[in-house]
Amino acid sequence: AHDVTKVYEMGEVKVHALRGATLELFRGELVVLLGPSGSGKSTLLNILGGLDTPTSGHVMFQDEDLTAGSDTQLTRFRREHVGFVFQFYNLIPSLTARENVALVTEIADDPLTPEEALRMVELGERLDHFPSQMSGGEQQRVAIARAIAKRPEVLLCDEPTGALDAKTGVIVLEVLERINREMGTTTAVITHNAMIAEMADRVISVSDGRISEVRVNETKRSATEIVW
Ligand code: ATP
Ligand code: MG
Repeated sequence: AHDVTKVYEMGEVKVHALRGATLELFRGELVVLLGPSGSGKSTLLNILGGLDTPTSGHVMFQDEDLTAGSDTQLTRFRREHVGFVFQFYNLIPSLTARENVALVTEIADDPLTPEEALRMVELGERLDHFPSQMSGGEQQRVAIARAIAKRPEVLLCDEPTGALDAKTGVIVLEVLERINREMGTTTAVITHNAMIAEMADRVISVSDGRISEVRVNETKRSATEIVW
């Protein structure tokens, strides 16, 4: 993202959500985005993933300028390369874990099977369970399996542990860390959980619509080394 701004206009009111945010995500890294409420984190993540477009500035994916192309190009980028995980899991209640993931694998090019994706999040034993039969943490892991099933190059997670208690949140973060390590998926996570900051390659702070600090984590620890 280069010098990205985003202004939301609602009648007379203008909200400057991003005021010139520049950042680079490197292939295969795990990045955490921190910042106060309203600082622009979700807006930035949505723009990085092609869910939204900036008011000005450029978003590049490899050599492709996503801000120069058509909506169709942006949609293709998002479908082919990006997986999203949100605070609320948005699973379909009438479908099992396997069926929720299969919705994605049926339309992807070279997907994981639903079973592979669910094993990746350690739910290989819960393939035929419905969302109502699973805990919040398990439902979020199904949502993660759904997001990674198409083998996206980029995984963007907006407060994936926001609705979970601390201990369950750590299990979800460990899953994200393992996906990053084993599948090499470039991953950006918005979180208030200090623990994932320890697992991240870089911690990026957002403040008042800009990148205010980038800290490289010299002492990156894998999830399994973190003692609770
Ligand atoms: P939080 O930690 O609370 O999720 P955030 O850092 O993700 O906050 P954003 O959701 O990106 O913040 O919002 C940044 C600013 O843009 C806020 O002032 C917000 O009110 C405003 N904003 C976000 N989305 C819209 C929208 N669709 N229409 C108008 N204003 C918006
Ligand atoms: Mg947000």
